[in-house]
Amino acid sequence: MDAFSFLKCTEKIEESMRNKKTIEEKREFEKEVVTWMIKKYCRGNHKLKHNGNVPCEDCKQLIEYAVFRSDKCPFIETKTFCNNCKVHCYKPEMRAKIKEVMRYSGPRMLFSHPVMAISHVILSRREKKEVEEKNSLK
Ligand code: SF4
Ligand SMILES: [Zn+2]
Repeated sequence: MDAFSFLKCTEKIEESMRNKKTIEEKREFEKEVVTWMIKKYCRGNHKLKHNGNVPCEDCKQLIEYAVFRSDKCPFIETKTFCNNCKVHCYKPEMRAKIKEVMRYSGPRMLFSHPVMAISHVILSRREKKEVEEKNSLK
């Protein structure tokens, strides 16, 4: 993809993201992103345990945990993305695992899944801005 097509693509995504507003939609999207990232990590790092598109037991547990945390997020009314969170509710062991996953899969997402990567960046930045604006009004 050349630079011009890439810019056109980001504009289109930004446009479609403007319509993606509800908390539930964003939360589902966050779950989709984290699941993809863990599967990608598993495929690249646990080759012997990974089976087709099915992650290993450890990674399956991590997906379940991340999805569960998202569903139970205490900040659901104000935010949805864990990477904007100052609290981080993950227990230390799971937090260490998810950080490793993000480090590995984050850069790879741009090449394997550009639409998802750009959408996540756009929504995440917008949310961060909204949280900062709310905090400045307090
Ligand atoms: S890390 Fe923060 S944003 Fe993510 S689920 Fe936990 S409390 Fe919510
Ligand atoms: Zn794995």
